[in-house]
Amino acid sequence: MTTSILQVNDLHVAYGKVEALHGLNIRVGAGQIVTVIGPNGAGKSTMLNAIAGAQVANASTRGAVLLRGADVGSYPVEQRVAQGMSLVPESRDLFTTMSVEDNLLLGAYTRYRRREKDYAATLESVYELFPRLRERRMQAAGTMSGGERQMVALGRALMARPTLLMLDEPSLGLAPLIVKEIFRVIVRLKETGVGILLVEQNARAALQAADYGYVLETGEVVMEGPAAQLANDPKVIDTYLGLN
Ligand code: ATP
Repeated sequence: MTTSILQVNDLHVAYGKVEALHGLNIRVGAGQIVTVIGPNGAGKSTMLNAIAGAQVANASTRGAVLLRGADVGSYPVEQRVAQGMSLVPESRDLFTTMSVEDNLLLGAYTRYRRREKDYAATLESVYELFPRLRERRMQAAGTMSGGERQMVALGRALMARPTLLMLDEPSLGLAPLIVKEIFRVIVRLKETGVGILLVEQNARAALQAADYGYVLETGEVVMEGPAAQLANDPKVIDTYLGLN
């Protein structure tokens, strides 16, 4: 078994009195892609926000979030980022009037502050992964295409040099070729030892790229196992993979 990058134990999240997650246990190893699939409203975004420490009005959380063995459950977002966690939110949250490069540099801020020589190499590695971003580095992020904006969001998360990268629906609204490109990068990152937690509606693409998967329904894990095994499970095929 690989070293645990992330271990979530008995995670409960409630919005007011309504509990959305009922005791989740999730593990991501080093160099492993773990996917969480499930229908709309199952609690996938709730789970990612709770792990990342995002403040959501009305939400209360209990349970343990261990990052490389250390409980970061009480840390604010910035401190979790500094410890090696990065989340690429579904909304992508770019600063639309700022350039691509300035958006990327913001991702480095928590880690490097203003030490330019330290982040130059990281920026170079992001441009190597996404040559398109180098070509467009001075363009306003808001004028990039949907796929390019997803690359900026992913690149910005990588600028913090995460050991755990969490992705919320990275393929949402993107053309098949761009989805392929994004998944190619995710697999390359895994090969560098980063642990990846991938939430996807596109269960087929997710299970293809992942090592291990969880099926989340109404706040509970109803099935888990090696991704290849889930992809062949009749119930998963029926509910999540369709006929095509
Ligand atoms: P989707 O795939 O549609 O994004 P999801 O699996 O990410 O769905 P969540 O967005 O985590 O699901 O929602 C889980 C449940 O919690 C849903 O019933 C949702 O209505 C509820 N919920 C989410 N955010 C809030 C909030 N801020 N306040 C109250 N209820 C919320």
